[in-house]
Amino acid sequence: MKLCRFQIKGSKGAGAQQEVLQGTISGDTVRQISGDMLGKWEATNRSWPLSDVKLLTPVAPGKIVCLGRNYFDHAAEFNNVPPKEPLIFLKPPSSLLAPDDSIVLLPEVQRIDFEGELAVVISKPCHRLPDGADYRPYVAGYTLLNDVSARDYQALDKQWTRAKSFDTFCPLGPVLETEFDITKETIDTLLNGVRKQHAPFTLMLFPIDVIIPWVSRVMTLLPGDVIATGTPAGVGPMKAGDVVEIVVPGIGTLRNPCVNRAD
Ligand code: ZN
Repeated sequence: MKLCRFQIKGSKGAGAQQEVLQGTISGDTVRQISGDMLGKWEATNRSWPLSDVKLLTPVAPGKIVCLGRNYFDHAAEFNNVPPKEPLIFLKPPSSLLAPDDSIVLLPEVQRIDFEGELAVVISKPCHRLPDGADYRPYVAGYTLLNDVSARDYQALDKQWTRAKSFDTFCPLGPVLETEFDITKETIDTLLNGVRKQHAPFTLMLFPIDVIIPWVSRVMTLLPGDVIATGTPAGVGPMKAGDVVEIVVPGIGTLRNPCVNRAD
C-alpha cells in the first residue's frame, strides 16, 4: 500500500492556506483517506488523477535520524574504517524537501553531494527496545531520502551538523510504502539519467533489526520519525541544472532538480 501527503494543484484560493491531504495511491489515482495515516484510517470517496496533485513529503517527522557509513564500500570511498557500532547524526525537519522540488545549492560550497538512502518511518512510540526484539510493529513503512551533504563543511567542522542541515538538503518521498521486503530490493541513484549508485539493502553493515532497537535506546522514537539507513558507494557532486533520482522499484522514484541559490 502506497500512502502519501498531497495538495490539489491549483486549489489555492486568494490568501487561503492550501489544505494538506492524506491519501493512497493506486495506479494513476490518488484517493483521500481520513484518520491517522500511521495508524487507523479509512478511505473516503474523493479521488483525483495523480497528475492533478502535488505530492508532499509522505510524513512530517519530528526528527530525522541518519546512519553514517552503513555500507562498507561507501566508508571505503572516503578512506574511513567501518564503524563498530551504528554511527548516527540528525538532520533538522527544516531541511525537508518534497518530491520534484528543487535542491538549492550554495555557490560558496565547492562540493555538494547526493546520497541515495532507504528511510524507515516509525509508527508508534519506541523506547529502549532490547536487541533481538521484534521491531516490525514500530515500522509504518519505507520511503526514500536524499542525504544532501556539503562536503567542504563536513571536512572543515569535523562534526556533520552544518554540512547536512541546510534548507532543501533532505528530499523525502515520493510515498510511504507499507508492504516492503527489504531483503529482495535494491537502490539506484541516477544523476541526469546516469546510474551512480547501486546496491542491494543486504549490504548494510547494521540492518534495520539492529538499527531500530539501538537508536531507541539513545532517543525515544515517535510516530512519523524517520531513520535514514545510510548510503552505498558512488556518491558524487551535483551542480545547478542536474536532476537526481533515487529509485527503489518497490517504492518508486524520488526526483529532485538542483538550482543555485538566487541571491
Ligand atoms: Zn547519508
